[in-house]
Amino acid sequence: MWQSWDGSVEALLEPPVQRADVLIVEDEVEIAELMQFHCERDGLRASLVHNGKLAVDVIRRQKPDLVILDLMLPDLDGLEICRRMKRAEELRRIPILMVSAKGEESDVVAGIELGADDYVTKPFSPKVLMARVRNILRRRDAEQDKPDDGDRIVLSEGRLVIDAERHVVSVDGSTIDLTLTEFGILQYLASRPGFVRTRDQIIAAVHGKSTVLSSRTVDVHITALRRKLGSLGDCIETVRGVGYRFGEGKTALADA
Ligand code: CA
Repeated sequence: MWQSWDGSVEALLEPPVQRADVLIVEDEVEIAELMQFHCERDGLRASLVHNGKLAVDVIRRQKPDLVILDLMLPDLDGLEICRRMKRAEELRRIPILMVSAKGEESDVVAGIELGADDYVTKPFSPKVLMARVRNILRRRDAEQDKPDDGDRIVLSEGRLVIDAERHVVSVDGSTIDLTLTEFGILQYLASRPGFVRTRDQIIAAVHGKSTVLSSRTVDVHITALRRKLGSLGDCIETVRGVGYRFGEGKTALADA
């Protein structure tokens, strides 16, 4: 039977992740080795690159299933590596988990807008790091096996259904009445559960579906959306300093 290293109940309920290759890009050797230790303890293969300039070549050669990317590298910073990966057709789909220092929220926002999948903040707990890693790998597995079910999104064990074609959202079987903007925001966040989206990404996604949005009005729409979702309102999680994500509705793991 599969069992998580930390033995927590929450971890035991999570399905196992297929064996995967993780590449850790981090110049601080001790931190890199600590990450490697925890990845390997979780049954993943993990290799290290300590040099930002080498990183893109190593990624190209190894084609890992996930890159853990420190943003603060002395020679070539993590954002630039992220940018180069997203520009390269064969590397674009490799998921990226960014590692940032406290107070680098603007870098995190920039990284997510470049296409990074998630982030952890230093100093991180191994439990949070591995939860993020497993989350990204599980989503990747889920997306690979996902049948094409058209324009319907079903989440939270069937409690939330978003029917894009009919423009109808229901919670526990009852239709809820959303504005076009609220519908657009919900559909955008729910289309990739677990992914953090910045306010600017949300604005771009619903652009044209409503009147002009600003960062502050995004927050107002989110508040209204949460209220209308009722008991599922906390599925729209605030990621402080960065934006929002559609989560499982339980309290997200704290970063610090
Ligand atoms: Ca570093």
